[in-house]
Amino acid sequence: MTSTRRNTWQRAAVREFLAANDDFLTAQQVHAQLRQVGDKVGLATVYRALQSMVEAGELDMVRTPDGEAAYRSCTPGHHHHLVCRSCSHTVEIEADAVEEWAHSVADKYGFTDAGHELEIFGLCAECSQR
Ligand SMILES: [Zn+2]
Ligand SMILES: [Zn+2]
Repeated sequence: MTSTRRNTWQRAAVREFLAANDDFLTAQQVHAQLRQVGDKVGLATVYRALQSMVEAGELDMVRTPDGEAAYRSCTPGHHHHLVCRSCSHTVEIEADAVEEWAHSVADKYGFTDAGHELEIFGLCAECSQR
């Protein structure tokens, strides 16, 4: 098998895994969980696969409060996230008030083509009870 074909297979494994997973995961977490189910994927390959999938718009990436990159296969289109700091449980949220506010602030200062990123980190209902 050529290395290109092997990488394609590994990338498919990463994509499939994230498609079946609802939470934001770091490259290390993806790597560890793929190894657990017996996929012999290298950490560097996981990193590269995640990076190229973000560039292709297949994955959302957020920075955790620790500064780590975390990845998730999201629904297409603009949205925001609530992310649990403890268990990584993630909820996609719409934030109309944020959209309006961001648009009007950009407008006020003459900015066009303005985008924004906003994620809310906290403890989910289950983790709050522990
Ligand atoms: Zn939680
Ligand atoms: Zn928004």
